Amino acid sequence: MHYATIKNNDIANGPGIRVSLFVSGCTHRCPGCFNEEAWDFQYGQPFTQKTMDDLLEMLAPNYIKGLTLLGGEPFEPQNQPHIVEFLRQVKSVYPNKSIWAFSGYLFDKDILTGRLGPWEITEEFLSYLDVLVDGPFIQEKKDLTLRFRGSSNQRLINVPASLKSGDVVLWED
Ligand code: SF4
Repeated sequence: MHYATIKNNDIANGPGIRVSLFVSGCTHRCPGCFNEEAWDFQYGQPFTQKTMDDLLEMLAPNYIKGLTLLGGEPFEPQNQPHIVEFLRQVKSVYPNKSIWAFSGYLFDKDILTGRLGPWEITEEFLSYLDVLVDGPFIQEKKDLTLRFRGSSNQRLINVPASLKSGDVVLWED
């Protein structure tokens, strides 16, 4: 996997001050995408153990509330195993930091159906997530007043509550 950008002290992509990782590779090709260069799976830098160690260090301060995964597309089948390996490390070192992810796929129609690669990897990925912001960016539904999302079709999903109830439960601050 490659990654496009890392943002330390990010306040735009989840609650509190966070570390954000923008992975490379996205097949959605939403018109008006904010990060078109990251559609290419080879864009940016290789995601190595050194990258993970650097991110773990950035996550260390108490004022960092958590990690956010964006793209590109974290749920592309070829990206998931690398992200899961990283999240295993994050959770073992920082069990109380929150983990958010943004995806152009739909939680119920795409991700939970197991069509994005081996289900055991997707299932483990979901087990680490607190919130998933799902759905593609739709230019006609763009709304700059929305918190943590670009268009009104996108949902802020409480992942643990949704997995437990078997229904989509929205996240509330
Ligand atoms: S899912 Fe995100 S990164 Fe991918 S094309 Fe849509 S807006 Fe861009």
